[in-house]
Amino acid sequence: MILIVDDKPENVFSLKSLLEQHSFTTDTALSGEEALKKTLRQAYALIILDVQMPGMDGFEVAEILAGSSNTKDTPIIFLSAVNTDKKFITRGYFSGAIDYIVKPIDPEILLLKVKTFNKLYEQNRELNLVQQHLKSEIEFRKIAQLKMQEKAQELHSILESIPQIAFTATTGGTIDFVNDKWYAYTPSTHYFPASHPDDPHIMEEWKKAVLAGEPMELETRIKTNNQSHFRYHLLRAIPIKEEGKIVKWVGSFTDIEEQKQAIKKKDEFLTIASHELKTPLTSIKAYVQLLGELIPTENTAKPYIDRTLLQVNKLDTLINDLLDVSKIESDKLQFELTPLNFDDLLNLTLDIFHKIYPSYTIIKKGNAPVSIKGNAVRLEQVIINFLTNAIKYAPDSREIHVLTELQNNQLHFAVKDFGIGISVENQQSIFNKFFRVSESAPHIQGLGIGLYICSEILKMHHASFGVKSEPGQGSVFYFVLPVIDNHQ
Ligand code: ADP
Repeated sequence: MILIVDDKPENVFSLKSLLEQHSFTTDTALSGEEALKKTLRQAYALIILDVQMPGMDGFEVAEILAGSSNTKDTPIIFLSAVNTDKKFITRGYFSGAIDYIVKPIDPEILLLKVKTFNKLYEQNRELNLVQQHLKSEIEFRKIAQLKMQEKAQELHSILESIPQIAFTATTGGTIDFVNDKWYAYTPSTHYFPASHPDDPHIMEEWKKAVLAGEPMELETRIKTNNQSHFRYHLLRAIPIKEEGKIVKWVGSFTDIEEQKQAIKKKDEFLTIASHELKTPLTSIKAYVQLLGELIPTENTAKPYIDRTLLQVNKLDTLINDLLDVSKIESDKLQFELTPLNFDDLLNLTLDIFHKIYPSYTIIKKGNAPVSIKGNAVRLEQVIINFLTNAIKYAPDSREIHVLTELQNNQLHFAVKDFGIGISVENQQSIFNKFFRVSESAPHIQGLGIGLYICSEILKMHHASFGVKSEPGQGSVFYFVLPVIDNHQ
C-alpha cells in the first residue's frame, strides 16, 4: 500500500485516482502528524510526501521516519514545488531509498518511479521472508542437533556403565561408538572382535542383519587380546527406530560361557544317567513282562504286575526321550526315510494307543491312503506324543479327534483335543527344549522334551508343523508332509 501525504485534498485526490487507476492500493494523510500516526499502525511500500506543508514539513517527517526501526527502510518520494537541495533531503536519511519529483507532476514519471519502488519493496519483502525462514530453519536444526548429541551422550554413558562389551552403529552398519570394554577384545574401533574359526563370521552375520533391518542374535566365541582361549558370548544388536525409520543400531556382547558350560554339564549328565538307567531298566521290563505271562489271569498278584509294567513302560519312554535329546544335541539322531503308506501307519499307531488308553475315544476324520517318505518308528513316536499330550492336557475330556486331509499333494495331519489350550505367547516356545507352561497345569508332570523331539523328527522329515490353540478352547497339533508318487 502507498501512503500519499499532502495538505491539499485536491492534490491527494488526483494522485490517489492516478495510482488506483494503475491498480495500486493507497492510503492518505493530510498532514505530517497524521502520516506519522498512520505509519505506526501500518507498513507502507512507499510514501509520497509533499515537502511544503503547514506544521511539520516533509523533511521533518522524513527524518522521523528514518529514525524509526519500522519505517527506516520505507522509500519516500518527495513532491516539491521548487528544485530541492539534495544534501538537505539526505540529511539523517541514509538507509532508505529516496527520490523526488518537482511539481507540476508528470504522471508518467511519477508512475514509473512508483512502480520501481513498489517492485523493490516487494522484492525486499520476499527476501526478508526467505531470510526469516532460513533463520528459523537453522535454529531448528541447531536445536535438533544439540538434542541428538545429548541423547547420544546419554546412551554412551549408559553403555559405558554396563558390564557387557557394547557398541553403536550408523544406519548403514558402520560402528561409530564402542565402550571401554570393547578394547580388551580388539584394538580396532571399526571391526568386531575375531570369532572362533568354527563359529559364524560376525561381520557377515552383521551385514545380513543390517540389510534386513532386523534385530540380530548370535552365539559366538571371542577372546580377549591377552588370552588364548575363547569364551562364548551372546551378540545382540537391535535397530533403534524413529518415526518408523532406523536411525541407529545398538549392540552388546554378553559373556555366556558359564551358562554354556552348565548346559554342557547338564547334557552330559543326562546322557550318562539315561544310558546307565537304560540297561537295568531293560532287564526289569523283560522280567516283569515274563512274570505277567507266567502268572495266570485269576491270580490276585496279576493287576499289580500289570500296573508295574505300565509304570516301567512310562519310565522306559522317559529314558528313551532323554537319550533322544542327547542324540539330537550331538547330531546323532539319525534314521532312514522310506516310502510308507500313511493310513496304515496311522491305523497301527491308533491301535497301539487304544490298547494303552482304552477309556479314550478317538474319532478319526478323513483318510490318507497315500505314500509319504518317512520313518515309521519315528512318525509313530510323534503321533503318540501328540495323542499322549491330548490326554495329559485335557483332564476333563475323554475325546480326541484325529484329522487327515490331502491338500495340493500334501498330507495334513492333526490331533485335536478339548483341553486347557495354550496362549499365543507360549505357543512360540512349546517346541523348545525343556519348555513347559507350568502355570496353566502345575499338577501335570513332564520334562518338556516330548514336543522338542517331535519338532526335530519332523524337521528331519522336511515337514512343517505347529499348533493352533486358545486358552480353555483345546489345541490342535499338526504337521504337513509332502505326498510322494507311489512309483518313487
Ligand atoms: P511335557 O508334556 O513333558 O511337559 P512336551 O514337550 O510334550 O512336554 O510339551 C511341552 C509343553 O507344551 C507342556 O508342558 C504343556 O505346557 C504344553 N502342551 C503340550 N501339549 C499340549 C496340549 N495338547 N494342550 C495344552 N498344552 C500342551
